Amino acid sequence: MKDAMKFDRLLKETLEDIHEEDHVGGNMDTPLRSDAFALSDSEKIESIEKDVARILETLGMDLTDDSLRGTPKRVAKMFINEIFGGLHPDKKPSASTFDNKYKYGEMLVEKNITLYSTCEHHLLPIVGKAHVAYISNGTVVGLSKMNRLVDYFAKRPQVQERLTLQVVNALQEVLNTQDVACVIDAKHLCVNARGIRDIDSSTVTAEFGGAFKNPDVKKEFLGYLKLDTSF
Ligand SMILES: [Zn+2]
Repeated sequence: MKDAMKFDRLLKETLEDIHEEDHVGGNMDTPLRSDAFALSDSEKIESIEKDVARILETLGMDLTDDSLRGTPKRVAKMFINEIFGGLHPDKKPSASTFDNKYKYGEMLVEKNITLYSTCEHHLLPIVGKAHVAYISNGTVVGLSKMNRLVDYFAKRPQVQERLTLQVVNALQEVLNTQDVACVIDAKHLCVNARGIRDIDSSTVTAEFGGAFKNPDVKKEFLGYLKLDTSF
């Protein structure tokens, strides 16, 4: 009986720990530790270089071979500067570059935004298209800002559902309106190239904020996307 109570308490504590780890800053946010940026980028590159070398060594690769010699450093730099380069909040496209000079009040759709991300469960690529729309309440953004925002949130270990929400949320904040939507259609190499190896399947996620919850508005948005037969 005592043991059972002890077990329950331990279980409860463990679940609370997991809960806290998973929900740093709310569950829409990428789960980062509070010391995530304690190391500089160059310190991280140095550390990851050793880690990658160790993985390759464990696999039995000869790192003195010309072809492999540069791989650990190359991968480390790619992680920090490129594919996971969107983790640091400083890299977020700045809000000050969003201007407010037009009076366009209809739906604006930026479609077929090329998306490269990385699945955080397997560290394999996610490749696809993002389609973003908003209805201005007076504020507008430069069109490329939507591409940059997608790219910023894509450059981190990701899950597609979270990426979709993060894009919508960031635009809602910048545009000061709930009327923002995002549809992402992407291939996950962890599904296409390994495991079930379904090369043709893709994953579609969508988030419809504010007016986009209205079936007519949603239909208008999705109608624009259907103009492109590749969607
Ligand atoms: Zn995966």
